[in-house]
Amino acid sequence: MDKKTEPGNVQDVDAVIIGAGFAGLGMLWRLREQLGMSAQVFETGDGVGGTWYWNRYPGARCDSESYIYCLTFSPELLQEWNWSGKYPEQPEILSYINHIADRFDLRRNIKFNTRVTTARFIEDTNRWEVETDQGDRVTAQYLITGIGCISAGNIPAIKGLETFEGESYHTGAWPHNEVDFTGKRVAVIGTGSSGIQSIPVIAKQAESLTVFQRTPQYTIPARHETVDRKFLDEQVKPNYEEILEKARWSKAGFPVEFSERLALEATAEERQEAYEAGWAKGGHGFLWGSFKDIGVDRRANDTAAEFIRAKIREIVKDPVTVEKLLPTDHPLGSKRALIDTNYFETYNRENVELVDIRHSPIQEITPDGIRTEDEDFEFDMIVFATGFDAMTGSFFKMDIRGRDNLSLKDKWAEGPKTYLGLQVAGFPNMFMITGPGSPSVLANMTVAIEQHQDWITDFIEHMRTHDIEVAEADADAESAWVSHVNKIAESTMFMLADSWYLGANIPGKPRVFMPYVGGLGTYREKCNEVADNDYEGFVLNAGVRQLAT
Ligand code: NAP
Repeated sequence: MDKKTEPGNVQDVDAVIIGAGFAGLGMLWRLREQLGMSAQVFETGDGVGGTWYWNRYPGARCDSESYIYCLTFSPELLQEWNWSGKYPEQPEILSYINHIADRFDLRRNIKFNTRVTTARFIEDTNRWEVETDQGDRVTAQYLITGIGCISAGNIPAIKGLETFEGESYHTGAWPHNEVDFTGKRVAVIGTGSSGIQSIPVIAKQAESLTVFQRTPQYTIPARHETVDRKFLDEQVKPNYEEILEKARWSKAGFPVEFSERLALEATAEERQEAYEAGWAKGGHGFLWGSFKDIGVDRRANDTAAEFIRAKIREIVKDPVTVEKLLPTDHPLGSKRALIDTNYFETYNRENVELVDIRHSPIQEITPDGIRTEDEDFEFDMIVFATGFDAMTGSFFKMDIRGRDNLSLKDKWAEGPKTYLGLQVAGFPNMFMITGPGSPSVLANMTVAIEQHQDWITDFIEHMRTHDIEVAEADADAESAWVSHVNKIAESTMFMLADSWYLGANIPGKPRVFMPYVGGLGTYREKCNEVADNDYEGFVLNAGVRQLAT
């Protein structure tokens, strides 16, 4: 028998947690410190951090302001940690996560460099049997995924991909060593969040930078700056709990007021004034601080979209490049909202060129570079900022099997089906942190993650105190949730763009809107209601213990 599968190697724990990012670490702390449970975390990387471990590309930074992008289970840590930037940079976020891992002694329950390959629910024992690529075999009552929603990198299957003789990188799997662009002819494919963050930084170093853009983007200046210490010390730290509570019940996990004004009821001058103020202030506040009908009424949306197009015309000097950059085929906010630092300005640099691959598609990657329908380009480096197989991709990298040996991949063949984004019918005691059907990717991620961690912790505590061994989403409750998620998405402008929210970036992926768009506060209320009603929509039973008595 293979040593890896020797029965002696099997370890039993209360919970297996997959992933050591914000999701996995906070979950581990709660299970261990609040519930006194044993847990084993498996992490593919050789360190903690998840998204922030992998996404080390130049310019990587979070779009949430640093004071609200944090784990909150330790009031002392909230008071003691001092961010340096208004928007935290990847290295600083990673050191914050490392600090958490050390400070709360989390590493002792994490096995690094280890990928979970299979997880099977064994019906005879009501336990999950988990195997890894390092030969681990662990059984656990609970399986909790903290694998991220935007973690499975997507490099499109372009003809000739493997023939390129230069260096190539995906933003989401950036090497740990420094990548030096000096004197290099660099291509960046993709203009999503990762592209628009890395393009201005790469442009400053490279000999030349050629950006291959499929869809022009709306993006607002972030107005990044060093952190405002006075604001932090005087307004944030003394009021942290209040601020967090506001964020927790808000639509998108930020402690902000949404504007109640309607663009269509304002005069042209009032609209201009509001948009100029939002543009000057910068950040996502441009959307929520100006007019509330931008997100729901196409005519209102057009007024904001036109304002941004006018800004692009104003900033970018070359008229041909301007035309390529103008977003006209989708409403503002229907793809992931973007904020940037000097994105449009970068196209005024002499060493930067924009190629519109919507009209002249990439035909192949050659040993020397990229061939489009109209031109051959030579490069030393290609950066794929081409995104991720979001929300489901990282689940499908593992073979997860529930009752009747049903694989999650088969269950989700026509799109993900979950109850509250937290559980899947037929996969008992498996909880997902930020799973499809939850609002996480439309919200400030740490706030969304902690809502899940707290809710799952309370649920497990309830199970333990009520002697419940198995909790499983009811199939009807799951169907009702999936219909609800789809129904509310249908009435939004999110349906009017080809985005990763809809799986549109991955050829062949079912076109289903995956996140819950009803808002984080509303979702929290719904989850709490479910808990208050004895975990309505879950089938709870005492499992084998019940059968034995
Ligand atoms: P993304 O938003 O999916 O953007 C991918 C880009 O690659 C798009 O411009 C896309 O064009 C292009 N692309 C994809 N497949 C292509 C193909 N076959 N040929 C040519 N172009 C192709 O990916 P991302 O920029 O990595 O961001 C993913 C998500 O991660 C973000 O939406 C955000 O939620 C998160 N993120 C957040 C931050 C932050 O907080 N600041 C930073 C980075 C990432 P189309 O638009 O035409 O599909």
